[in-house]
Amino acid sequence: MDFPSPEIVAYSEQFSAPESELLAELQRETWAKVLMPRMLSGHIQGRTLSLLSRLKRPRRILEIGTYTGYSALCLAEGLAEGGVLHTIDINDELESMVRRYFDRSPFADRLHLHIGDATRLVPELPGPWDLVFIDADKENYAVYFDAVVDALNPGGLLVADNVLWSGKVLDDPSTFDAETAALHAFNAKVASDPRVDSLLLPVRDGLMCCVRL
Ligand code: SAH
Ligand code: CA
Repeated sequence: MDFPSPEIVAYSEQFSAPESELLAELQRETWAKVLMPRMLSGHIQGRTLSLLSRLKRPRRILEIGTYTGYSALCLAEGLAEGGVLHTIDINDELESMVRRYFDRSPFADRLHLHIGDATRLVPELPGPWDLVFIDADKENYAVYFDAVVDALNPGGLLVADNVLWSGKVLDDPSTFDAETAALHAFNAKVASDPRVDSLLLPVRDGLMCCVRL
């Protein structure tokens, strides 16, 4: 399922701030050299993350699921002066590429990459957080939410990607695969959690946005 249409995406890109040269190069290198390049956030979602971060002006950002670092670099654009971003990925094969791009960015000294399993590392990283972006293994979204929600500052923002899962969340639940079931359960869980107000933004593959009350 394509939503919105490729033409609408192209039009939206035309009338949005362009990607920086560094982000465009990272996107090109990812598509040329890395497995599963569709996982990279891309232009419109990257600008969305940048906008949310600039509105929030976070002092502390946590990202779960770095991949090649595109979304981390977008989120870092909104960091408050002296703010830091911690990002976690389990795939050590991506580490040198991520560090190469982080080092070339204006945020080199404020980006902290951790290689390891986020289910183990998230509880070890000290909060509080002003912005959390969940974009790793879908089966553990609820685990990550539970691990960070009480470490969010009041007014803190939690964003989770791919919560529409290419529209598979609309299928008959008896036919769900494990990831679709986990994402649907995650959406229902956060929508009914009294600690947050949620908005499922149908941007690209679905961004669940929660504000900590
Ligand atoms: N946020 C990136 C895309 C992330 S893709 C962007 O928007 O550009 C998902 C990433 O989650 C992959 O790189 C994968 O290695 C990582 N991942 C999967 N399971 C994980 C786990 N248990 N702990 C940490 N990272 C994990
Ligand atoms: Ca994603």
